[in-house]
Amino acid sequence: MDTDTSTMTRFRFGKSLVVAIDGPSGSGKSSVSRETARRLHAAYLDTGAMYRAVTLHCLEKGVDLTDAGSVERATRELDLSISTRPDTEAVLVSGIDVTDAIREPRVTRAVSAVATTLGARSELIRRQRQIIADSHHRIVAEGRDITTVVAPDAEVRILLTASEEARLRRRGDQLGGTQTAEQLKQQVLARDARDSSVVNFHQAANGVVTVDSSDLDFEQTVTAVLDVVRTVAHH
Ligand code: C5P
Repeated sequence: MDTDTSTMTRFRFGKSLVVAIDGPSGSGKSSVSRETARRLHAAYLDTGAMYRAVTLHCLEKGVDLTDAGSVERATRELDLSISTRPDTEAVLVSGIDVTDAIREPRVTRAVSAVATTLGARSELIRRQRQIIADSHHRIVAEGRDITTVVAPDAEVRILLTASEEARLRRRGDQLGGTQTAEQLKQQVLARDARDSSVVNFHQAANGVVTVDSSDLDFEQTVTAVLDVVRTVAHH
């Protein structure tokens, strides 16, 4: 049996394999994490989608995003379900499909208000830990505080970074060139700056491996992440 096959077999039938991936927006986190989950035959959790779902709900219901108590209450009461199958992107709020709606610019603009409400964070962190447990600890979970807060005991912890230039270019491509350079900067860097007031996703914490994707394409980044998984999970 070659090394690769034995590695995959071990991952498939072995014990707990939680892969925690954090990073700023535009680092390629979501697509790379989803593909990594596919290759490992593991579940996949996009925690950013949960913050977005709460934000969309607050916008739709007129919950005042500057009122921490109201945002926390709305988060606790939210009927939220999220698919953890890497091939099915689905987010439901009270049974309604909001998968596309949570990507709207009005949600992206407002989401940091929810992320910086500590009561909302602790409720989402609780739910994220439950989802990880429900996966039998075989999951790739990505976000901003997975390596440090949600799953600091994960077998594999990775910080996926990229230069500012690469991140802006990728986000620009994703949005189909509809934004000016200034708008992009405002969206990507300003959001990261707001989020950074409550979570640190720019420096790797102790024991967290940094993968810099600035000069890597998608496939190379997935390979780099899988290399870390193989190296770290075998120790
Ligand atoms: O990853 P994505 O850009 O979809 O995340 C949306 C927002 O959710 C982030 O800008 C941040 O405010 C929040 N977030 C967070 N902690 C996480 C994941 C996302 O605060 N673990």
